[in-house]
Amino acid sequence: MMKKLISHFFPNHCLVCEKEIDPAQYLCADCLGSIKGPIMTPFELKFVDSAFSYWKYESPLKELIRAYKFEDRPGIASLLSEMLFEMINTFSPAADVIVPVPTSIQAFVKRGFDTNLRILRRLSKTIDIRIDNVLTIAGKSIPQSRLKMEDRFQNVKDKFYLKRSPRSTSVILFDDVVTTGATASQCARVLKEGGVKEITLLAIAGGKK
Ligand SMILES: [Zn+2]
Repeated sequence: MMKKLISHFFPNHCLVCEKEIDPAQYLCADCLGSIKGPIMTPFELKFVDSAFSYWKYESPLKELIRAYKFEDRPGIASLLSEMLFEMINTFSPAADVIVPVPTSIQAFVKRGFDTNLRILRRLSKTIDIRIDNVLTIAGKSIPQSRLKMEDRFQNVKDKFYLKRSPRSTSVILFDDVVTTGATASQCARVLKEGGVKEITLLAIAGGKK
């Protein structure tokens, strides 16, 4: 009854196809069903030992992540954490420590939450995994999404550093989107300099071309 009333006054629409959906959902069943991860194909990235993404950074996953990051829909974190959970279940990496790629201060202030950390906090309610929020970003950096591919590496070089020693020598590095891989690779380099031996990168969307 309550649900019916809410959807009558506040109709909710699929982020991709505009079909009317339940107020608690973000994508309709068809759009959600077209995301068929986790992809088993690994991709290569410097300083990272193995890397996997859940699905390609394309519609409808792209719209879902963009709504999460840029349109103030923090609730999408639970859906993304379910995808990450499925990946961990499938790949079963040896590490039980997960390190988020950090959000810049500017992005944090703008969105009011740390995008990767929020996903990991949801995940840690489902499985026994320790979050090691050890990485941080120095100074100002331009959001990678606003730069041309060739400028992205320079933008993040020497931007990341460790707040303290990492808690484990074997970690999962997590980022929601990996496109060029410049950010994830720099984070991995810093972790390795800090004594980490083995890094598995998991991303919701991407797969370096
Ligand atoms: Zn749809």
